[in-house]
Amino acid sequence: MSTAAKKVLRVWHETRTSHFELLKRLTPSTLFYASENYSFDIREATGLDVRKRGIFATTWAVLTGTHQYVEFNEPTMLKLWPRLLIYTSAHRARRAFDRKGSPSAILYAIDNLPPDAAIADTFRLPRRFAAFLVRPFFRYMFASFDRVSFGSAGAAAAYASLLRTTKTTPEISVIPQLPSPCSCPDAIAAPRSVLFVGALEHRKGIVELMKAWELMDDDTRLTIVGIGPLTSRVQAWANAKPNVRILIDPPRDQVHQEYRRAEVVVLLSKRVPRWREQVGLPIVEGLSHGCVVVTTSETGIADWLQAEGHFLVDAANPAHVVDAVNSALQCGPARIEVLGSLPTEHTRVTSDRWLTR
Ligand SMILES: [Zn+2]
Repeated sequence: MSTAAKKVLRVWHETRTSHFELLKRLTPSTLFYASENYSFDIREATGLDVRKRGIFATTWAVLTGTHQYVEFNEPTMLKLWPRLLIYTSAHRARRAFDRKGSPSAILYAIDNLPPDAAIADTFRLPRRFAAFLVRPFFRYMFASFDRVSFGSAGAAAAYASLLRTTKTTPEISVIPQLPSPCSCPDAIAAPRSVLFVGALEHRKGIVELMKAWELMDDDTRLTIVGIGPLTSRVQAWANAKPNVRILIDPPRDQVHQEYRRAEVVVLLSKRVPRWREQVGLPIVEGLSHGCVVVTTSETGIADWLQAEGHFLVDAANPAHVVDAVNSALQCGPARIEVLGSLPTEHTRVTSDRWLTR
C-alpha cells in the first residue's frame, strides 16, 4: 500500500467532481472512496491520488497505512454507520497497540441534522427515545476523533444536542464554511439571469422553483444545471418555456461559465426525513463568483447570508420566492460587494490546515 507519500488518508464514502477541485487545495492526501455521485468525472482527478476501494481494503489501510492523519465521514450519516463503526474500531484497535505510531483521526463536520432527529422523523418515534437508541453509537464514533472542525455553527449545535457531555472530547474548532473568490476570469453577467445548479430532485426544491417561475416576468432568464431523478420532468417543463434553458450535467468549466453569467443563484432546499441541507455547494460556488443568493433557512450559513444582504425565502410560497428573486436582481449586493465579503481562502482549506497542523 503506497500511501506513505501522503500526509492524510481521506475515507470519503461518496465522491463527486467538485471534491477533486477541493482536494487540490487541501493538505496532500490519498482519497479512498466507495461510490460515485451523480456528478462524477474522474478526468478532473488528474494529479491526485484517488482510489476506489471497498471495506476490506479501506480497513487494512486504516490498520497499516503510514499516513499521519486519517479522515472519516461524519457519524451523522446513518447509512454509513456499519462502515464507520468498522473503520473507527480499526483505528481504535491500532491505537491501543501502537499509541505513538498510529495516525490521528480527524473530522470535518457540516451536518446540521443530528441522527436522533433523522430517526425520530423516519420512524415517527419520540425524539428522546430515538436519542436513547443512537447516542451510544454516536458518542463512540465521535470520541474516536482527535480533532473535529465544524463548518457551521448549526453543525456544532446539532452535534452538541446529541452528545451532551463526553469524557473523551476531541479538540474542536468552529469555522463557518465560506469560499474565497473563484480564480475564474471576470464575470460578465447576462441581465436578469438566474441560475439553479444541483441535483434535480425534490429536496433541492426544483419543483418549488418551477412553480414560482410560472409567476416570473418573461424577461427574467433561468438556467438549470443538473441531473437527477426529475430530469425528464424538468427538461419537458424547461423546453416549453422560452426564458428557461437546461444543461444536463455539463463539464465543470461550463458550470463555472454559468456562474459568471448569473446575477442570482437560487437553491430552495427543503428538509426531508434523514436529510437537511448542510451548507449547499451551489451557494458556496455562487458566492465565489459574486452571485446574490436566494435560498431557504435550511443552510447552516443562513445567518451569515442574511447579514450580508442575501435573501432567505419560504420555498412553499411561490409569490415570496418571486419577490425575493426580483429583489435580489434589483437591489441585492453588487458582485464586487459579494466578493469583498469573502475570506481570501476557502475556509474548508483553513479548517483542513487546522485539522492537519
Ligand atoms: Zn469559477
